[in-house]
Amino acid sequence: MNKKGHVLNAVLLSIGLGYLLEPVGDLETFKTIAMIGVPVTLGALFPDVDTAFGRHRKTLHNLPILLVFVVFPSVFGNLEYVWIGVLTHYVLDVSGSKRGIALFYPIWKKEFGLPIGVAVSSKRADLMMVVVTVGELALAAAIVFEVPQWGFTMGRQLLGL
Ligand SMILES: [Zn+2]
Repeated sequence: MNKKGHVLNAVLLSIGLGYLLEPVGDLETFKTIAMIGVPVTLGALFPDVDTAFGRHRKTLHNLPILLVFVVFPSVFGNLEYVWIGVLTHYVLDVSGSKRGIALFYPIWKKEFGLPIGVAVSSKRADLMMVVVTVGELALAAAIVFEVPQWGFTMGRQLLGL
């Protein structure tokens, strides 16, 4: 996926997440979109820094790098939500382009991709970006709305209520 695709994916995903978390569509919704959207978009740009430093689709396209961004906020108290941008970049590179990414780099240099990928320069790349974004939002909606329900039900069962 090219830079435009990654930015559009990050922006659309952030707008969707903003509405999932603050569905009313008021000032709170737009503040949430900004709060999520800026770090997510920066995170989505980060992995392709390895086009200039290191080996592209390897050095900054792997699970250890994602883990650093997931753990960073709880250790240092900033960079919240950046990991969502890094993760969605990986998802888009794995599913939305022909070449995969080296998820287990530097231990294992093999690049993983899905056979549904389209060429980065293809006209269908934008369509694929939209499909991936909708899929991610569906998953996020399931987490936001279903997980609390499961937790509530499990908690009640554990307490025998
Ligand atoms: Zn990439």
